[in-house]
Amino acid sequence: MELLLKDCTQVLTQDNKRNILKDIDILIKDGIITVIGKNLSTTGKMIDCKDKLAMPGLINTHNHLAMSLFKGYGDDMPLDRWLQEKIWPAEAKLDNDSVKYGALFAIIEMIKTGTTCFNDMYLSSEAVLKATKSTGIRGFIAYGMIDLDNPEKTESELKAANSFLKNFTPEENGLILPILGPHSPYTCSRDLLEKTKLLAKEKNLPIHIHVSETKKEIEDSIKDKGMRPIEYLNSIGFLDKNIILAHACHLSEDEIALIKHAGARISHNPTSNMKLATGGAMPLQKLLNAKIPTGLGTDGSASNNSLDLFGEMKVCALLHKFANNDPETASAQTVLDIATIGGAKVLGLEDKIGSIEVGKRADIILLDLNDTTMVPNHNPVSNIIYSATGACVDTTIVNGKILMENRTLKTIDEKKVIENVNEFASKI
Ligand SMILES: [Zn+2]
Repeated sequence: MELLLKDCTQVLTQDNKRNILKDIDILIKDGIITVIGKNLSTTGKMIDCKDKLAMPGLINTHNHLAMSLFKGYGDDMPLDRWLQEKIWPAEAKLDNDSVKYGALFAIIEMIKTGTTCFNDMYLSSEAVLKATKSTGIRGFIAYGMIDLDNPEKTESELKAANSFLKNFTPEENGLILPILGPHSPYTCSRDLLEKTKLLAKEKNLPIHIHVSETKKEIEDSIKDKGMRPIEYLNSIGFLDKNIILAHACHLSEDEIALIKHAGARISHNPTSNMKLATGGAMPLQKLLNAKIPTGLGTDGSASNNSLDLFGEMKVCALLHKFANNDPETASAQTVLDIATIGGAKVLGLEDKIGSIEVGKRADIILLDLNDTTMVPNHNPVSNIIYSATGACVDTTIVNGKILMENRTLKTIDEKKVIENVNEFASKI
């Protein structure tokens, strides 16, 4: 099956040289970018891309999709109280159906704002998987494990994670992949972390975990375990190249060296960190200097309250400039790299996605160059980071399949999903 993106006014390739091409066609065959050139033709579908900018789809490396149900339900609280008083009691009311609609709602928001790949960790993961499969978006899905040092729970959580893994049938295009999701070093026992590690090795799976999110977490870890969270994970043999660390805001120089040595990767969630006032900005520049793969994430809608990565990119750029009192930190190009090719590296998919290059999967978004946020076009990268929002995304393509065209969703009944989300929201 072919798809031709004809006469793209600009193509932000995000290739090694960060080339920006002009007035060019992109031919996609069976989900793969096969030719980038002039005067191409097709027997398949063609999209007129005049006054459009084609760029790689954005990659959200840390999310809890169904938390879209809790957007605006509990704001302006510290993380521990927010979880205990608002989120965990509300989550007790979830069932498979509500999680399915919560996930679909999140996917609608992602497709409409140009995100083509996500990394999810949540409960009722079978429902998330089912929802995701129906939409055509790319993603990693984890069953989030929490045992709170209860040995019975350790076993039941591992059983649930194992049973979820059985739901994955190897798909030809590898669009949706499993990942393991022990919630964090403070909600998971050492036993659960060690057994998760063994399972990851046995099944050759990556692991997605929250770590070093708040200052309190660091203080508690030093008090309870005699060491900082990354030091602890390293001491139990947990840290290696298959680990994705979400947040990692508070890192000592030694911990950065440990992450670098292990080859672990980082998901940076600036809006969630700022909203929950986690106690200081992540040392982004030090991580980038150490060449530690770093991607961007929104975290769940309950702590963001948006899944629009355009907004997240702007917050990322502003946070690090402000925190470091340095306008040259987190440049527009640096932040765009984090949200595209950086995210692909974090997820181990850099050979498949993250840039527009021949041989890569066609995860491409088209931005409307006539949208006021993209005019004037002195510098498209600047406009994307500092001016645009997800509303300038006109078309979203994943694996060569059109999921949204002219802002109309092709694979999801938006009205039905919104009705179901509102119905659940009225019950909590
Ligand atoms: Zn999270």
